Amino acid sequence: MRSTMMDVPLLVSSVLRHAAQYHGETEVVSRTVEGPIHRTTYAETWRRTQRLANALAGRGLHIGDRVGTLAWNGYRHLEIYYAAAGAGYVCHTVNPRLFPEQIVFIINHAADKVLFIEPSFVDLLQTISDKLTTVEAVVVMTDAAHMPVSWTLSGLLCYEALLAEQPEQFEWPVLDENEAAGLCYTSGTTGDPKGVLYSHRSMVLHAIAVCLPDVFALSACSTVMPVVPMFHVNAWGLPYAAAMVGAKLVLPGPKLDGASLHELMTAEDVTVTAGVPTIWMGLLDWVEAQGQTFGRLQRVGVGGSACPPVMFQRFRDQGVDVVHAWGMTETSPVGLVNRPKAGDGARSAVDEAAFSAKQGRPIFGMEFRVVDAAGNEVPHDGVASGLMLVRGPWVAAGYYNAERGVDDAGSSWFETGDVVNMDSRGYVQIVDRSKDVIKSGGEWISSIDLENIALSHPSIQEAAVVGRPDERWTERPLLVVVRRPNSNANEDELLAHYEGKVARWWVPDSVVFVEELPRTATGKLLKTRIRELYGPEPR
Ligand code: ADP
Repeated sequence: MRSTMMDVPLLVSSVLRHAAQYHGETEVVSRTVEGPIHRTTYAETWRRTQRLANALAGRGLHIGDRVGTLAWNGYRHLEIYYAAAGAGYVCHTVNPRLFPEQIVFIINHAADKVLFIEPSFVDLLQTISDKLTTVEAVVVMTDAAHMPVSWTLSGLLCYEALLAEQPEQFEWPVLDENEAAGLCYTSGTTGDPKGVLYSHRSMVLHAIAVCLPDVFALSACSTVMPVVPMFHVNAWGLPYAAAMVGAKLVLPGPKLDGASLHELMTAEDVTVTAGVPTIWMGLLDWVEAQGQTFGRLQRVGVGGSACPPVMFQRFRDQGVDVVHAWGMTETSPVGLVNRPKAGDGARSAVDEAAFSAKQGRPIFGMEFRVVDAAGNEVPHDGVASGLMLVRGPWVAAGYYNAERGVDDAGSSWFETGDVVNMDSRGYVQIVDRSKDVIKSGGEWISSIDLENIALSHPSIQEAAVVGRPDERWTERPLLVVVRRPNSNANEDELLAHYEGKVARWWVPDSVVFVEELPRTATGKLLKTRIRELYGPEPR
């Protein structure tokens, strides 16, 4: 029997409309590429978004056409998010930190018709523009005064000029909620990047989940600063979630160093922020060195790679609560969040460290299975590990324009490629990515565990553990570290630091000291490169 309820689709445009109607005065504050801090409100953002939607429609785009962005976190990027998706196009965020060839591949594969770029990317664009086969118009996200000198000759469009000539009213289409609204490519550490097409429905449902008390706990009293870039899985849904609850939004632009983040965070009274561990290491180092505090900051979301327990402790010492979360481009991204349950009570320091290393428990909407090679569920005892499979309304059923299309994948389980264990209370710990786990003597060694221990040594700033081929054991762990300035910890001291913390055969065989570790464009350790550089032959 059909229900008697209204069939109102879940649409991205409805999120900003709500924010404009009922939180119209709430601020959106951005650090701009041009330099100054820019202040606007949800009401003004809505008006400008309607102008932009008119501009896009006026270019003859069709429903479903892709609109690309090469941009940092800022108010114009926010307007493009809502205008492109709301008008029925697909907002395709491209990571500007990728290699130019990867950017070309992704834009051509997505067949972006219009491309929005920050003024600082005009040079980059010039080096790749002759290779872009589908882009019909490039809009520079600035005003006429900050356009490149010869812009009128080069065919570039000016964002503010485009908006100025448009009306402030736009007829938002009533779309099917399963239509595509956003597109994001995986970083392609294992082959060409793959496109995940988010729907209006998946974006809105995921954003509601992000607001929940045991996720980022957002409300109209929050001030949210997504440090995670808007090109990295839609800044984990925060630009939608904040607008949905009417939280003040603070967008840090291109400046992600400790001093700049701290300045903006304290000046704007940020209460919630989120990003990858690498960024937080930089911020923590800066705040501690300067003897500063985090102001009104209550919670920091950490995900994308494992949050080392020592990072939990450093934030906690500053009175900031850490929300460790797991996700993937294919899962919109949030799937697991590490929050305590009622009755957990106080833990000893040792138990607290062990708990904080876990990625967390499934949030509603996400189903999880942990299976062995034969596909059988492994015991949920916190020890037995297996491959993690997920399913849910914001999990990709396939990739855009790929062999494995959406239709043939349906709603079967998605293989995450992560090796995990789950305990009896539903908390999951990522042992490793299946391709990074170290196979030694027929057993698995978790590189994440070994990295976390190295990072708990006061002399270590960054650590990576990779498997080095070994005739007898198949692979043996190798520790590669960056020391803190003015520290001279040696190999013996670091290896002794593992004693009593892991089984003897887990202790790395040797240590390589380096100046820096290669990272992906989203700040994750580039294990493939580290293996190439240091893995093959013993020193
Ligand atoms: P890519 O797959 O291109 O690196 P994603 O951002 O989609 O980009 O990465 C998803 C992967 O990142 C997960 O499969 C997992 O291996 C890792 N990851 C994400 N969050 C965490 C976390 N909190 N702890 C450990 N690993 C994580």
